[in-house]
Amino acid sequence: MSVSPAVATSAAPAAVDSDPACAAPGGADAASIAPLQVLGRDVLVPLVTGGEVTYAALDYAASAPALQRVWDDVAAYAPYYGSVHRGAGYLSQLSTDLFENSRADVADFLGCRADDQVVFTRSTTDSLNLLAAALPANTRVFVFETEHHASLLPWEQRADTEVSYLNGPRTPQQAVDTLERALAEREPYGPALVCVTGASNVTGELWPVRELAAAAHAHGARIVLDAAQLAPHHPVDIKELDVDWVAFSGHKLYAPFGSGVLAGRADWLQAAEPYLAGGGASRKVARRADGGVEVEWHTTAARHEAGSPNVIGVYSIAAACKALSEAGFDSLVEREQQLVQRVLGGLAEVPEVKVLSLFGDDAPRVGVISFVVQGWNSSHFAAALSAEYGIGVRDGLFCAHPLVRTLLGGEDDEPGECGAPDSAPGERSLNAIRVSFGAGTPDEHIERFAGAVQELVRGGARWTYRTEDGRCVPDRNSISV
Ligand code: PLP
Repeated sequence: MSVSPAVATSAAPAAVDSDPACAAPGGADAASIAPLQVLGRDVLVPLVTGGEVTYAALDYAASAPALQRVWDDVAAYAPYYGSVHRGAGYLSQLSTDLFENSRADVADFLGCRADDQVVFTRSTTDSLNLLAAALPANTRVFVFETEHHASLLPWEQRADTEVSYLNGPRTPQQAVDTLERALAEREPYGPALVCVTGASNVTGELWPVRELAAAAHAHGARIVLDAAQLAPHHPVDIKELDVDWVAFSGHKLYAPFGSGVLAGRADWLQAAEPYLAGGGASRKVARRADGGVEVEWHTTAARHEAGSPNVIGVYSIAAACKALSEAGFDSLVEREQQLVQRVLGGLAEVPEVKVLSLFGDDAPRVGVISFVVQGWNSSHFAAALSAEYGIGVRDGLFCAHPLVRTLLGGEDDEPGECGAPDSAPGERSLNAIRVSFGAGTPDEHIERFAGAVQELVRGGARWTYRTEDGRCVPDRNSISV
């Protein structure tokens, strides 16, 4: 059955200048590359100091706003919504087609090999937990301590998996050398897996994925790429990077409808017990003579997709993949790099600000930048950016506690009360602030952010804040000045 044209046809491509000159790396004209249309750009939020302002969403690394194109595609499909892989009705058939076509679109987006499988999950965390559960017996896992908890923590859930936690490197080359050494030292081993992020969710820095993959393969290990922060900012080509699996989340890729992806080698996935047991994963179920139940599981991606699939979430990811590909990653990267330079330049003008980096200040990074402000509690600073400027950033340790603590100088202290800076002059901060942005970020948000940082550091907060449940919040009884 073919999918209804009303559903298959996407809304007009988002507004990106298609002038090929803009796509040439290094040759783009800043003014000619427009941000992609995202939802929420006109949302007004109140300021504690009075009035309203459009919300500046600068927390893309946590969750990016939906692309207008994704929303339009989902809205066009919604009336045709039906069950997937079950149901004889027209809309069930159509929804099944849409679901499976989305799988093919995601495979295309990732440049998958012919025999790779694309498994739909709930998120990157879910994808990596699925892979951890699917490891062959006695697999040895190698993971840097600098990973997001989603890639750091899943591997110990099986008693037969041995995990080597590698020290955080201070250069990309050191990352490769550290991995090489760890792999060589522990040989011989049976199945082995390296897990690495493509771009750090703390510093935005790019990791040497291709080189790490080559090192892993040279020692007979496989590698999974945590592309949660890479895929929204850069093309991810599984063949070109030569990684065995890629994991990412829809909600960071402008498709916030609750789906994620694990794509890559089929053999370990097919040999493993299903991630969830239930309908959809089972091909045949029968009572055994001894009274039990015998199950024949699917060997396709369906093996790990038990239950009714989230067709809207999956379709939205495919729509986002198409929108980003059609907009052209060259232009998107070019524009985002201009924004990165503008943020770094603005922060550099404030001596009290220290930008966090693992690989050095000039290391290539995506639009994810963490920093601390001397003399400020980071939660207080983030609360003031929100309450006084309508800017949404994140503060804390960003689910990468070992990395952020290393970057801040160690120890496990809790931050102090709001208003009492957690770093007195000359002392280290206990938390960081993260600003993150991407294809939908207008220049104005970046300008507002840069101006707000300067004003707050120079003039201080214009409101008073108090601690509530460990976070700084504006004191509603405060009088604006
Ligand atoms: N990996 C990285 C690098 C991340 O930044 C995140 C989330 O911030 C994750 C994994 C987990 O993603 P999710 O919360 O969508 O499962």
